[in-house]
Amino acid sequence: MSISDWLQSRYRGKEQSAGEIEAFVHAVTNGSVSSAQLGAWLAFVLCKGMSERETVALTKSMVASGKSLSWSSEGGVLCDKHSTGGVGDKVSLVLAPLWAKMGRRVPMLSGRGLGITGGTLDKLESIPGYKTDLSQHRLEEVLNTVGCFINGQTSELAPADKILYATRNETQTVPSIPLITASILSKKLVEGIEELVMDVKFGSGAFMQDISQAQELADSLVRVGEGAGLKIQAHLSDMSQPLGCKVGNALEVEEAIATLQGKGPKDLVDLVCKLSGDEPLARKILDSGEAFSTWSSMVEAHGGDLSLPLLGKDVSRFDWRADSSGVVTSCDAFHIGKAAFLLGAGRENSVDNIHFGVGLQLHSKVGDEVNSGDVLVSVFHVESNLDIAKNYLSQAYTIE
Ligand code: URA
Repeated sequence: MSISDWLQSRYRGKEQSAGEIEAFVHAVTNGSVSSAQLGAWLAFVLCKGMSERETVALTKSMVASGKSLSWSSEGGVLCDKHSTGGVGDKVSLVLAPLWAKMGRRVPMLSGRGLGITGGTLDKLESIPGYKTDLSQHRLEEVLNTVGCFINGQTSELAPADKILYATRNETQTVPSIPLITASILSKKLVEGIEELVMDVKFGSGAFMQDISQAQELADSLVRVGEGAGLKIQAHLSDMSQPLGCKVGNALEVEEAIATLQGKGPKDLVDLVCKLSGDEPLARKILDSGEAFSTWSSMVEAHGGDLSLPLLGKDVSRFDWRADSSGVVTSCDAFHIGKAAFLLGAGRENSVDNIHFGVGLQLHSKVGDEVNSGDVLVSVFHVESNLDIAKNYLSQAYTIE
């Protein structure tokens, strides 16, 4: 089939065979499909959809577009978790060492944050020395000795996703359930895992704001993931207010450490335990602080030094106070995320620099009673953008 035949098929919403999809993805990866042709193909998928069979074929073809990692058959179940992203979401930092402590192996590859949702790699890089580009040989050693690693993706893994994602961004074709499904699953399948737990978030701070869209994505991920040979579960979780009490890279590492030491906020602990698949055991390990040693070993194996202060701590603190008394009825994740982003915790473009130390510590969340004058949020900032951030905070909180 020629490229114009592929485009005609998609335009008419005709189902493409696995072989045709594989050939198309191959042509995209080797540069034989122009950006205009790819943009058209993506727009047709966005408008006409894609069957589950086609989405499985697309996922597998994206995996086959590059290398995949593989691990020894000896040892615990190889598993990972992926979140569709949220504000204050530091679950991976806690769950990877927790799972390792539970006897699983976690070869986690993560990304950087874009927009208001933070990225796990950015958080980890606030630890002095932490390297996110270990070689495969070193990753294997770390997986065998510590039980988990959290590293960056390389350009050799699922290269088709990078090309498709960049064109989706340019052509407003990101919000297609089959394309999102294939994009997420291809990046997880190349990790060589057997099991995947998906945390699909909904609410104002999430990629999918509406619960029914999040459910649709979760169902698609499960069906396509199973079709591609993964054992997969998807949980929906609320992102209408931030997770935990700290938002910002170094601040979130602090909160993850506290959680691993048995002193985590309830919503974070509850979610981590639910995603772990064995709530009673996970709770016992977190309460005892036992997974902290696994975290320390993982950080050390990545070159990180936990004896040094986290990076970017040369920030000023401003306490933002309640101007009335009552109960907090809204602590909106979008506005909090936006405030942290404007302070410098996030980036607009993948090449932008971030400030590790800036962010927010929330002293009150939904359901808490506050008195006028109480500190609602401590804002950690450098000189710029404090006023705009305060403006977003005032929109985030409702006290009734
Ligand atoms: N995250 C991804 O990795 N891919 C998408 O398409 C959307 C969110």
